[in-house]
Amino acid sequence: MPAALPTLFVSHGAPTLVTDPVPTRAFLLGLGGALPRPRAILCVSAHWDTSAPRLTAGERPGTMYDFYGFPDELYEMTYPAPGDPALARRTAGLLASAQIPVALDAERGLDHGAWVPLTLMYPQADIPVLQLSIQSHLSPRHHLELGRAIAPLREEGVLIVASGNATHNLREAFSHSIDEPPVPYAREFADWLTGRILAGDTDALLDYLEQGPQGPRNHPTADHYLPLLVALGAGMEGNGGTGRLLHDGYTYGVLSMAAYAWDA
Ligand code: ZN
Repeated sequence: MPAALPTLFVSHGAPTLVTDPVPTRAFLLGLGGALPRPRAILCVSAHWDTSAPRLTAGERPGTMYDFYGFPDELYEMTYPAPGDPALARRTAGLLASAQIPVALDAERGLDHGAWVPLTLMYPQADIPVLQLSIQSHLSPRHHLELGRAIAPLREEGVLIVASGNATHNLREAFSHSIDEPPVPYAREFADWLTGRILAGDTDALLDYLEQGPQGPRNHPTADHYLPLLVALGAGMEGNGGTGRLLHDGYTYGVLSMAAYAWDA
């Protein structure tokens, strides 16, 4: 049996990350090649937020342009990775075994939270990709349990890539320039987050709004944080939830672009 793959959390920033000459783009360009090649990728993106869990299950998921007012070149990009309906059924079975019913969605494509980082990590788009939705109206613990349920996929050659942002006050982002140094409130939260991940402090990570410095200001909505808990849940067995920092960086001063891995 092949060794279990790590699980990842990456910060995707603005859709223009795919072309912006920032350190996080360079990091993601090198990340795919630094990992064992997966047979499929299961992406949990901040940008698919549903009332109950859903999984993409089409043969050919399309590329979604779920953003407005960005340069034309972004709307011309495609990420033509195949889907994997059999893996969708397998994943649905794992979730059902954990008493988490999930609906299969053969129509939905890949949103930019998935295709922006994957375009950089795996530009050839030749590895099948699925997406699993988040439920931002449900608890942090629900998302940890989603991750725990799908953890066996790591031993089946599936790379779980959660995509959100380590800090995500988008309202304040665009009053800063892209290469501005981090503002203190974002840096404090991101440093706290990294410290808790390195310590395997799952309870604190679940209580991020209270325990994280200026939690509500850094995550006015939960959608860009919750994917991290799915990656943690899927990656915590055997390591006590202890993860590692893969990349540290900022865009627009307020968006921490930190990335983490939980190793088998
Ligand atoms: Zn986003």
